[in-house]
Amino acid sequence: MTDLLIYNGPAVAEAEVTRTGGVPSAPADFGWPRCAACEGPMKFVAQVVLDASTILSIFLCQNDPGLCDEWDPLSGGNRALLFRRGDLVPAPVPDGDETQLGEVCGIEVKAVDADGYDEARGKWSAETGCPEAEILGMVGGAPAWLQDDETPVCPVCTTVMEFAVQLEEGRDQSINFGSGCGYAFVCRACERGRFLFQC
Ligand SMILES: [Zn+2]
Ligand SMILES: [Zn+2]
Repeated sequence: MTDLLIYNGPAVAEAEVTRTGGVPSAPADFGWPRCAACEGPMKFVAQVVLDASTILSIFLCQNDPGLCDEWDPLSGGNRALLFRRGDLVPAPVPDGDETQLGEVCGIEVKAVDADGYDEARGKWSAETGCPEAEILGMVGGAPAWLQDDETPVCPVCTTVMEFAVQLEEGRDQSINFGSGCGYAFVCRACERGRFLFQC
């Protein structure tokens, strides 16, 4: 089975659900991430509920697109943050032109009986009659790399990280991965995430 992430209509901007856009659900002491290169506030692109206790929140610098190494898992131009659920609140959004997407979209998980991401995309589209653009990505499984395998290690315990989410640029291409795909990894034990994109 492959668990696809599918667009599912509008969502409430502050809901603690899987969605693109809106306001991240975060701990009360959360500090909005800033880019290591330009030092500006990053753009919140999506959060994915991984399980009953964990939510993954993804940020990308868009203050100077292409100039902040925002594809790189280590340079500080993006963030994948793992939050423990239970006491999350809507994060205060800082001033800035590139902190939020223009639209808030609910995302549902659809299990497709297929071997891998690309096969699942085609099969879901054929079965539903919906375009593949309605597929935001995938949760779990194995990453469908566009380039070489770049699975990172945990910055704390240095074990190979667990693949969590693959993301497309979205149905309106409002998430800028240079026409590629984003990949998020987690270490649940250390509550750390890493993000990168390839194109
Ligand atoms: Zn930046
Ligand atoms: Zn770790």
